[in-house]
Amino acid sequence: MDNDSFRKHAHSLVDWMADYLQNVEEYPVLPDVKPGDIKKQFPKLPPEQSEQFEAIFADFKQQIVPGMTHWESPNFMAYFPGNKSMPSILGEMLTATLGAQCMIWLTSPAAAELEEQMMEWMKEMLALPKHFTGVIQDTASTATLCAILTAREKASGYKVNEEGFSGAEKYIVYASNQIHSSIDKAVKIAGIGSNNLRKVNVDHAFALDPAHLEALIKEDIAEGRKPLCVVSAIGTTSTTAIDPIMAISKICQKYDIWHHVDAAYAGTALVLPEMRWMAEGVELADSFVFNPHKWMFTNFDCTAYYVKDPRALINTFAISPDYLKTSVDDEVKNYRDWGVPLGRRFRALKLWFVIREMGVEGIQAKIRKHIALGQWLKTEIEKHPDFELLAPVPLNTICFRFAPNISEDKLDSLNEEIMNRVNATGKLFFAQTKLNNKFSLRLAFGNTNLEAKHVENAWALIQEKAKGVLASEY
Ligand code: PLP
Repeated sequence: MDNDSFRKHAHSLVDWMADYLQNVEEYPVLPDVKPGDIKKQFPKLPPEQSEQFEAIFADFKQQIVPGMTHWESPNFMAYFPGNKSMPSILGEMLTATLGAQCMIWLTSPAAAELEEQMMEWMKEMLALPKHFTGVIQDTASTATLCAILTAREKASGYKVNEEGFSGAEKYIVYASNQIHSSIDKAVKIAGIGSNNLRKVNVDHAFALDPAHLEALIKEDIAEGRKPLCVVSAIGTTSTTAIDPIMAISKICQKYDIWHHVDAAYAGTALVLPEMRWMAEGVELADSFVFNPHKWMFTNFDCTAYYVKDPRALINTFAISPDYLKTSVDDEVKNYRDWGVPLGRRFRALKLWFVIREMGVEGIQAKIRKHIALGQWLKTEIEKHPDFELLAPVPLNTICFRFAPNISEDKLDSLNEEIMNRVNATGKLFFAQTKLNNKFSLRLAFGNTNLEAKHVENAWALIQEKAKGVLASEY
């Protein structure tokens, strides 16, 4: 492709992008496809000869778009949003154009220094402790793995990295039974072993019970094991439960245990002064992660990882091959040493665009609106005689079920059928969770362009399908 063609095609792509963003609600949120439907459209072998860009783009529209789940739609209320915004998309376009590989300062000085500044800005925005230092990671899963690996190295005097586990203590990691699967994955990869991940009980609000945590720690110490790390959550995945961060921090201090706070989704709500109660005690924690790519209007991927002791992080991950040495290594941050990958994308650019274009107040206004919409639906459900909440709603994720007067053992299948019928309409997409063994409908309201009408329509559609399923099958 030559430069003139690039310019021409880029313009047509941008026109398509703007149309897509404007009309995204017209697409079915969930595509009507079966496994294999998309792949069977593609030729078995790659083309030997160059193809016209127009043909490739036409196939994108005909073969790819109809097979996409439209995360950008405000009617996407499943999981947590992978939200984004126009300034973020534009930032990503420039990142792709610059094509910089930001492994060390010298390979992209502006990227390294903008990343440092963005992590400072977000620390201010979320009122995180001043003594935290931040780095951008690809995902919260990677950041949590970094936390557990760093905890392991610090506890072992940086020996496991050199000598392996032989002679090391038997490390134990703790987290509530509501934790995200990334913690299960991290303990496996870090060589701790899933049998050494203790799942701590939770209270009625699905928040970690500190008394049970301390009892488990004491038991492990008494039996000669080494408590290594507690992973707490500000916003668990199922219900956005808020663990008692201060109590957990104090226990960690008492027993000299690393405290990692996973605020992957809900961390963004700390931009609101009225939500900062959630993070009381974070100043005593060792590390903290949140995902601008979930709720801070920044395209996937972009994770903000903060640590109290950057030396410990660097001692865990630093490498220094001759071919990467530079004359400024002592003066700069070489982010290759702050995590797992060597190569790194220029993710700070889209953050810079988002924070400047929306302003802190613009971000706060959207987060406040999303929380208010969550609280509105919570109240509607509380008022309805046949629906019930299955968990408290501290933010904007609502777990509930249709519970008319039929036998309890039919409620799971009834609710699953309601969800399937709603999702089959293409007008809304949400997912489920299980709470105290009950099938729960679960809606999350963090999409960038979510308005009251989307939430009202979702609620009306769920009620309509609930009535229909009840009448036809029960
Ligand atoms: N932690 C929590 C609480 C989450 O809800 C999620 C994803 O939903 C993660 C971690 C993992 O995030 P990522 O996809 O960035 O690894």
